[in-house]
Amino acid sequence: MALEEYLVGVVAAEMPASFETEALKAQAVAARTYTLRRTEDACGRGGAQICTDSACCQAYRSLSALRENWGGAYEENLGKVQRAVWETAGQAAFYEGELIEALYHSSAGGQTEDAAHVFANDVPYLVSVDSPGEEVSAAFHDTVRVSRKRFAKAVNQAWSGAGLKASSLHKQVKVRSRFASGRVDKVKLGKAEATGRELRKLFELNSANFTLEITADEVVFRTTGYGHGVGMSQYGANAMAKEGADYKEILAHYYAGITIDTAY
Ligand SMILES: [Zn+2]
Repeated sequence: MALEEYLVGVVAAEMPASFETEALKAQAVAARTYTLRRTEDACGRGGAQICTDSACCQAYRSLSALRENWGGAYEENLGKVQRAVWETAGQAAFYEGELIEALYHSSAGGQTEDAAHVFANDVPYLVSVDSPGEEVSAAFHDTVRVSRKRFAKAVNQAWSGAGLKASSLHKQVKVRSRFASGRVDKVKLGKAEATGRELRKLFELNSANFTLEITADEVVFRTTGYGHGVGMSQYGANAMAKEGADYKEILAHYYAGITIDTAY
């Protein structure tokens, strides 16, 4: 499939078409950059350079899926997304002459995260920055309730030495440390210790930026933001566009020290 044609399906799947044009253009450049980098270092699923699983590579929707999804707004939405891709055709983000790892997520919860805190390696352009205006996202705040029994069982299965008891969670479970962004770094789980990201994965939380309350019969997680929090926040990008920023300003905010250049 031609790259620009693929990117229309990615931008349409990854960002609401109702977003500002400059946010859609920022998403198009981020998705193009991500794709070009993946084609150098293939994802490999089914022998492909890149796959359509958002948990692995990037989300993608075909034109027929978009027609079904958008209904009467299909022509208008598709035109808007196509323009965002075509008006940035060939453009990608570079750092010191190399394509960047253009990670992005739905909302950062007010502040993006250092790559080092999520993926254990420092990336000079993936550093924590402010990300205001994301509260309009329906997923910005979320609550997940887990029974004490299920919580103890799941944790004991994942960390065999934890020794959690459903009746003693208020004494056994505690958030030990947080990163400056607010995301949880370490959590005490009885005799074990987990990272915020590990708990996020285990209980399918929207974000590692959570509080944890232990009630009479439940463990209640309250999350802020949606996604890993590294790189560009899509809702933050839209908020910047509403304030008058263009796509290059949006990308330069979320990816520190980059340049936008033509890749082909
Ligand atoms: Zn993949």
